[in-house]
Amino acid sequence: MTISDKIKKILKLLSKAYGRPKALEKDDPVDVLIRTVLSQNTTDKNSLKAFAELKAAFKSWDKVLAADTRKIAGVIRHAGLANIKARRIKGILAEIKRREDRITLSFLNIFTAKDGLEYLESLKGVGPKTAACVLLFSFGKSVMPVDTHIFRVTKRLGLIGEDTGIEEAHEFLTKIVPKHLIYEFHLGIIEHGRRTCRAQTPRCGVCCIYGLCRFEKKRFFKKRQSDDTKS
Ligand code: SF4
Repeated sequence: MTISDKIKKILKLLSKAYGRPKALEKDDPVDVLIRTVLSQNTTDKNSLKAFAELKAAFKSWDKVLAADTRKIAGVIRHAGLANIKARRIKGILAEIKRREDRITLSFLNIFTAKDGLEYLESLKGVGPKTAACVLLFSFGKSVMPVDTHIFRVTKRLGLIGEDTGIEEAHEFLTKIVPKHLIYEFHLGIIEHGRRTCRAQTPRCGVCCIYGLCRFEKKRFFKKRQSDDTKS
């Protein structure tokens, strides 16, 4: 089986198990950028709450830029590391305004994915995952954001090597996943990582892609679950 066939098979099984991911909405790129910065080191629930509160408290990104850092930190407190994130957000907004004369990233639409990544990663506090999220979720560009779930699950599945680092994984997965499937793959693997292929206790006994997985300890976790069920 080719790697592309394996990926297609995995996605088919994940879609059967969890349903098809919601359609891509192409949100405003500055919104996606700030939302992703807020999501660093916290849960989706907390970061989305902080983002909604930030949008409700300020009418525009210019108003956020003009606000006192302590005020922003108070508004986004649910996201954790509020002082650091407030400073980071202000720094990013200030740099975009300095370069573009206004706070917009819509022009990235005409950039190649490579140039878009380069532009975004040149903003202080923006790493490969955040940059890839902006390009994928705002413009549907073919770049794979790799978070901890994707990194762990693709390693267990044998799609990336044991020694592959997270930065390399962005490039490698972007290359091997068929372009039109990147969005579905990203969401599907995250869902699988959250619900089944958990970090400490993967639920291999009920895994829909067990047969395609190369994780050495999968038999151990499968057996442990069936023992748990018996007792
Ligand atoms: S078999 Fe286990 S380790 Fe492999 S993908 Fe499924 S849950 Fe993850």
